[in-house]
Amino acid sequence: MTRRMTDASLRFNERRRREDEAPRLHERLPALATLRLEVEERRSGSVSTETKHVRLVVVDSAPALFVLPCGDSSCRDGGHDLTDGVLRSLAAGKTRFELEDGCLGNVGSSTCGRVLRVVGLATYH
Ligand SMILES: [Zn+2]
Repeated sequence: MTRRMTDASLRFNERRRREDEAPRLHERLPALATLRLEVEERRSGSVSTETKHVRLVVVDSAPALFVLPCGDSSCRDGGHDLTDGVLRSLAAGKTRFELEDGCLGNVGSSTCGRVLRVVGLATYH
């Protein structure tokens, strides 16, 4: 238990450090005005969406980093790093883009495999 909590806090610190060190979104993409991400998550092999939420990115202060946690609380070392895909789409000036990412974490002794689908809606100055 102690060991797991240590792992979790290490990961939390690591994430905080990456967020602090990452360039700001508005520095990387000065033309970006607003960004809205519609996030859907589903279990591997399932077609129905289990969770869906909308994330409004505060463009002026947000880090240029898009790392979303895995929605399965029993998943270890999972999560989704969509930074490259999001930044590439925004740099290309897209007003709508879709990204999908499978979780590489572990649930028990098997691979998690949950699929995250993100629809991004952006406006530019
Ligand atoms: Zn996972």
